[in-house]
Amino acid sequence: MTEHVEAVTFPGGIHPPYRKSYTKDKAVERAGEPEVVVIPLHQHTGAPNEAQVAVGDEVRVGQVIGATDAFVSAPVHSSVSGKVKAIELGPHPAMGAKVMSVVIESDGTETLHDSVKPRGDYSDMSPDDVKTIIRDSGIVGLGGAAFPTAVKVSPPKDKPIDTYLLNGAECEPYLTSDHRLMVERADEVVYGLRVLMHASGTPRAVVCVEDNKPDAIAALKKAVAGLENIEVTALHTKYPQGSEKHLIKAVLSREVPTGGLPFHVGVMVSNAGTAVAVSDAFQKGMPLIERVVTVTGSIVKEPRNLLAKIGTRFGDLIEECGGLTGKPSKVLMGGPMMGIAQYTLEVPVIKGTSGILVLSEEEADFGPTVPCVKCARCVDVCPVSLLPLFLAAYSERKMYDMAEASNALDCIECGCCSYVCPARRPLVHAIRVAKAEIMQKKRREMQAAKK
Ligand code: SF4
Ligand code: SF4
Repeated sequence: MTEHVEAVTFPGGIHPPYRKSYTKDKAVERAGEPEVVVIPLHQHTGAPNEAQVAVGDEVRVGQVIGATDAFVSAPVHSSVSGKVKAIELGPHPAMGAKVMSVVIESDGTETLHDSVKPRGDYSDMSPDDVKTIIRDSGIVGLGGAAFPTAVKVSPPKDKPIDTYLLNGAECEPYLTSDHRLMVERADEVVYGLRVLMHASGTPRAVVCVEDNKPDAIAALKKAVAGLENIEVTALHTKYPQGSEKHLIKAVLSREVPTGGLPFHVGVMVSNAGTAVAVSDAFQKGMPLIERVVTVTGSIVKEPRNLLAKIGTRFGDLIEECGGLTGKPSKVLMGGPMMGIAQYTLEVPVIKGTSGILVLSEEEADFGPTVPCVKCARCVDVCPVSLLPLFLAAYSERKMYDMAEASNALDCIECGCCSYVCPARRPLVHAIRVAKAEIMQKKRREMQAAKK
């Protein structure tokens, strides 16, 4: 490609201990076949699915078990072949409350459903046909937000996209699932990216990887050799480099406006794992039924990167890693900065599960909270240039209008402010509360305006 893109960085951010050495050199291994999977019908941003099977049905790998006609949604498929034992409320690692789930007992044969067949050459298909396959394959953003990919690659017609950024930053400490995919399946990462570019009509792409992953950068550079319109860029290693807005700022020097999305500045961003899922959907005809999960932490006996079927219990994967060597204090889905705390190991792997992190009491106990000492460290590190101490104070005093006026909705909940706070103030938590209250007020106002 002709235009040279030089990586810069963004203001703020932090350099936490990355602790990726537990798993960064561990090749992805397939997890054992689970005896039972619990597959939530709602695993994406958008409308929940309805069950497409009944108790007692025999199902096969790749068969649709949940779907809806809603535009913002993604169907779910069976990850095993076997018998549907129940359709009931089950634990969900991201939603807190229980959600309807399909419980399937595996017969261990991994028999494929008839629909699982390679889809042919994407470049012979229209963008709309490509989007239909992406949608039917249940693909969502695998970086955590789980936004349906078919919707993402359909921006408004008056917002042309000139650059696709493939996000391989993986800036959260501990996590290495994307890193291993980029090293081991670089060709599929690039194939999936080309499918996404075709679907969205995007002429050029940049694969963005933090410079603490030189092996991934080398593998991807080899995979794009000879492709004029895709380049690989190394980014400074800094958290939260993988945030969409910061990636766009660092690589293209474009600012997504407040309340805006990447397409407002002509950009589309997808995660490296999402590209591999797209590649599997086209080259193998396999919908999204499994993903790489980093199972890690100082008290996990043998931390590993496991290719796990959606619906596998967290506890089963920890057992596959030899179990725990000490008392866990906290189990998170995701990394330590933005991960979601779990109350039970019965929760299943879902499409958005990038990692299972077990923290010891020593790692999770930061000591008591004390009053703010006005050191302004939280202000210095905020990558969005907010004033976290004030936002949190407004939230704690229920002064949500003040929080809104101080741009609380711009907070990306990266956790940098809480991380550096010497008084251990729960800043992100307080800001999250304010954001939820502000959004609720906006919804009430919209409903009132409709009446
Ligand atoms: S205020 Fe929000 S965006 Fe700023 S550091 Fe804290 S969590 Fe991150
Ligand atoms: S980092 Fe903590 S103690 Fe320092 S100003 Fe911010 S809230 Fe106060």
